[in-house]
Amino acid sequence: MPRSNRLHFWVILTLLGFFLAGAPPGPAWGAEPVTVWSGAPDQKAVALTFDDGPSPVYTPQIMALFKLYQAHGTFFVMGHRVEQYPGLVQGLIKAGHEVGNHSFSHPRLTKIAQLSRERELERTAVDLDLLGCPQSERLFRPPYSAYDDRLKAYLAHTHRRLVLWSIDSGDWQGLAAPAIIKNVLSRVRNGAIIIFHDNNEDAQADRHPTVEALRTILPALKAAGYRMVTVSELLHRHGSPCQPGEGKD
Ligand SMILES: [Zn+2]
Repeated sequence: MPRSNRLHFWVILTLLGFFLAGAPPGPAWGAEPVTVWSGAPDQKAVALTFDDGPSPVYTPQIMALFKLYQAHGTFFVMGHRVEQYPGLVQGLIKAGHEVGNHSFSHPRLTKIAQLSRERELERTAVDLDLLGCPQSERLFRPPYSAYDDRLKAYLAHTHRRLVLWSIDSGDWQGLAAPAIIKNVLSRVRNGAIIIFHDNNEDAQADRHPTVEALRTILPALKAAGYRMVTVSELLHRHGSPCQPGEGKD
């Protein structure tokens, strides 16, 4: 076989092997997927996540419960509330919780222009950086879970993860605490990412049922042997990038 034909042969064979094996997961940096629904099923750990905060009423109550049960959570905050309540965000970081980006003003990102999307993400990211969370593991949760391929491409390009969930507590529907408890405890499994809300988009929601439900959920998960960790720890099995003491005073 002539040399050039041999080369073509090996190129074609390599490409064929690539397509038979399937494309590698995700276009992201390294081998990490952009979109995340849960952690590995072989670890007895779950990540409790909270959207739409921080809230001066509910976030401190949730933090107190987490401290009681040696748990850590991930809080997907809105940028305009970060600017309103920077002390709450610093408190979360200092207590070892993780803080993720939930846009600046909670728009449906699929309905706005790309430049507006980028402003929503980047202004919030700058606010979080300034508060002492380096955002080395940059987590984003889209408002209304609305995303498209263009948003995913932007997140991949900016080395962010799109963090969704495997268990919906249903607290956003205005459920009472027993229904929230049932939604979580009847579905919990290894590696679950569970979504709660410590506020809502217009700060009008009553989140007492969420706090009340956590008074049962946290001890129940602990008694069942689950570690309650941040999303980053769930994904990487090591500590959150925002460890206690890293936040600025
Ligand atoms: Zn939200």
